Amino acid sequence: MEQHVYRFGADRTGADVTEGNASMKFMLGGKGANLAEMARLGLPVPGGFTVTCQTCMAYSNAGNVWPEGVLDEIKVALADMEERMGKRLGDADDPLLVSVRSGAPFSMPGMMDTVLNLGMNDESVQGLIAQTENPRFAWDSYRRFVQMFSNVVLGVDSDLFENALTEKRLVAGVRSDAELAEQDLRELVAEFKQIVSEHVDPEQYPEIVVDGKVVFPSDPMLQLRLAIQAVFGSWMNERAVLYRALNKIPDDLGTAVNVQSMVFGNKGDTSATGVAFTRNPASGAREFYGDFLVNAQGEDVVAGIRNTEPISDLKKIPALHEAGEELERIFGILEGHFRDMCDIEFTIEQGKLWMLQTRVGKRTATAALKIAIDMVEEGLITKEEAVKRIDPAQLDQLLHPQFDKTAQFDILAKGLNASPGAAVGEVVFSSDDAVARVNEGHKVVLVRWETNPDDLKGMTVAEGILTSHGGKTSHAAVIARGMGTPCVCGVETFRIDAGAKEVRIEGSDVILHEGDIISLDGTQGIVVLGAVPLTSAEITGDLDTMLSWADEIRLDETDGRAYHVRVNADNPADAELALDFGAEAIGLCRTEHMFLGDRKQIIQSFILSADEAVRQKALDDLLAVQTDDFVKMLRTMTGRDMVIRLLDPPLHEFLDDPRELEVEIARAEATGALSGKELEERQALLRRINGMTESNPMLGLRGVRLSIVYPDLPLMQVRAIATATAQLKRDGFDPRPEIMVPLVSITEEHVRVRAVIEQTLAEIAAEYDVELDIPIGTMVELPRACVVADQIAQYAEFFCFGTNDLTQTTFGFSRDDAESKFIPLYLHEKILPVNPFETIDPAVLELVKMAVDKGRSVNPDMHFGVCGEHGGDPASISGFFNVAGVNYVSCSPYRVPLARLAAAQAKLDARK
Ligand code: ADP
Ligand code: MG
Ligand code: MG
Repeated sequence: MEQHVYRFGADRTGADVTEGNASMKFMLGGKGANLAEMARLGLPVPGGFTVTCQTCMAYSNAGNVWPEGVLDEIKVALADMEERMGKRLGDADDPLLVSVRSGAPFSMPGMMDTVLNLGMNDESVQGLIAQTENPRFAWDSYRRFVQMFSNVVLGVDSDLFENALTEKRLVAGVRSDAELAEQDLRELVAEFKQIVSEHVDPEQYPEIVVDGKVVFPSDPMLQLRLAIQAVFGSWMNERAVLYRALNKIPDDLGTAVNVQSMVFGNKGDTSATGVAFTRNPASGAREFYGDFLVNAQGEDVVAGIRNTEPISDLKKIPALHEAGEELERIFGILEGHFRDMCDIEFTIEQGKLWMLQTRVGKRTATAALKIAIDMVEEGLITKEEAVKRIDPAQLDQLLHPQFDKTAQFDILAKGLNASPGAAVGEVVFSSDDAVARVNEGHKVVLVRWETNPDDLKGMTVAEGILTSHGGKTSHAAVIARGMGTPCVCGVETFRIDAGAKEVRIEGSDVILHEGDIISLDGTQGIVVLGAVPLTSAEITGDLDTMLSWADEIRLDETDGRAYHVRVNADNPADAELALDFGAEAIGLCRTEHMFLGDRKQIIQSFILSADEAVRQKALDDLLAVQTDDFVKMLRTMTGRDMVIRLLDPPLHEFLDDPRELEVEIARAEATGALSGKELEERQALLRRINGMTESNPMLGLRGVRLSIVYPDLPLMQVRAIATATAQLKRDGFDPRPEIMVPLVSITEEHVRVRAVIEQTLAEIAAEYDVELDIPIGTMVELPRACVVADQIAQYAEFFCFGTNDLTQTTFGFSRDDAESKFIPLYLHEKILPVNPFETIDPAVLELVKMAVDKGRSVNPDMHFGVCGEHGGDPASISGFFNVAGVNYVSCSPYRVPLARLAAAQAKLDARK
């Protein structure tokens, strides 16, 4: 039969009777499992028992009905506990008092409830007086219990009790609760009970109704049952549900309930209560860290009502010296046992130390690195364990500037935390203004409704980017993350009037004008008026050490394949940065980013001109600038692979907005501002632009289809790549380009383009008299390509998976709209567990695996990589390497350190 209740602690002879242990957190919750573990270690833990998380779920699933037999099991456990403690709940001579504590498998700070001093009633208060000879203490405990129980279990507004307390202090002429006399407390107990009678709905709590009136329950067994029910119920309260949604904790885990005998930190100056960490959780330094309060109970320490004292002073108080020594000894025992920094709650009752909680402590990224590295040096953990312990997502904290933690500021607006890091600058409303101001030596934040490829110049020079529309994968967000520029998206309260160069902010009377200083924090998604001081990004020695350990692991080939990390980079500066961050090669160089800025003009005349000579001139110009680009990139990357993708986006992305052109024409027609010939030219241009409009450009004339429709384009690009390579070889460099054909779905597409590429390579090789051994591969990003991967593989040296498009086309979700239109709802309704554009979907991963397997079966030497946004997501990285079997992932420069760590962790997982 299923066991619902597990004992912990010792019996009266001191023998340990604990049934649980630290590995049982999914049954006993984190708190219960570790209380059991501490008891097993022989540490002083007040005895008690834990009701399992599964009981909570059974109770909740049955519509708040106790599962058969559990209440009897609890009665037995309680009787056993009374026997062990030598006291009885509610006893008039020597009463047992207990706490009823929630504790889920994952810590949910402040989300659920705890009741202290349970078992107090008019009889047991007399017993407590007899035992302690301290009537004031006994009545204060009673008063606290009625207050806490009524608030937590019966839902009475805590203000009602606080008001009564305030009035009592006024009448008594004292300033703090600690000065209230026994008589005052006695009266308060009665008044509190009266409040309960008046404010609790009898229909909601029929068990405590006597003669139609709510009466505060005096039966300890009833108190206990109601308290446990309340803790069970708190699992489903609104803030707990919200917290779990935000922290991706499943709803079906349930919470355990710990019933534990009370110890008292409020029995005078030889008693105290406190919280502590075994090391500094902010810096990681090897020092005790925490606070305590003399003569206090429970939450007093964290509540901030009284000034706490630093834990290092505990030993300095003579009456607490011994307990302090013991506590430090226990710090050592816990670290040695859990082999990690621990977070502890303790109480000292009349000089005797009691341990009330421990868990592995939360820490900053800096502390996480320092602690893990120190522990390797101390011989406590291995390098592999150290690497496993660092949360890759946390590394972001270390790589971007942040708001200074001590800074004070008011939040002006909130948006999505689209790209991490903080920035300060003057507001500008257009890309051109951004460039102009920066050229004058200013720092700017680009504020746009949403960005488009035209804004790239401004985005490049801006310290930060803010948009009022768009989600976390909007253009602004994706580009900002790629550039490592802080970005806050979807700031809906910003009413931007770019023409007037001002922003009105809904719900505020602030109006921002061009040149006003704002600060934004893309890690948190907040915007502040004025300059917030920043702390700068640094790659500390510890980060370096940790990442070099990660590299040793992921590049080790003795246990199988190496897990490589490449970068997505389109310009030498990004490539340089990525090399500093430890990228091994370039996994994706997008050539379209080389066609923006001044060059847009050239590509426009190629696309739009009807005149063959003009088109040829444009191609020649493009060839010259592209060759120059590739020389620079390939020189930076000498000795390293660099995957270059042929032109991919729909051509209209390079064209002007036809609506603006329409306006210009209409205006000219009205005012006669343009000559007849000029006007005609504009009209012809508009017709051509309109003629290129597609209903679904993402599914339209793009990728390999462009190369087929406009064969001059790939010809020019390959010529540029080959020429750059030949020149660099001649100059003694080691350029290693790989040419990638995007958006292939039909084998024949690849075959045709490959023929053009091979022929061009041969021509240039002959011209320069060098050998050009340039691999040609396919970007696999359509489901059909995955299905026919074994055919395509006959003509490809490598596959690189474009998982953004593959996700888009597998689901049939338009990435540009889905994330703002319905994915949030899907996530909320749990139709989707995660956003498939953030973390690779299993079905999409299955397609990747299928293509890898098919490719390898045809060509065992083939190389496989991933260059979608997913390449920088830790959960996806593990799937790509361990499930699909790729050779590398490629991600934006700022994600490279994270990917190195995540790849090492994936490798360690695969070893098991
Ligand atoms: P939380 O999960 O919010 O930290 P806890 O169950 O740990 O809640 O309880 C909060 C505080 O109540 C503890 O830190 C401790 O000070 C006090 N407390 C809980 N149980 C006992 C007990 N058996 N004896 C004395 N104090 C207790
Ligand atoms: Mg606690
Ligand atoms: Mg693509």
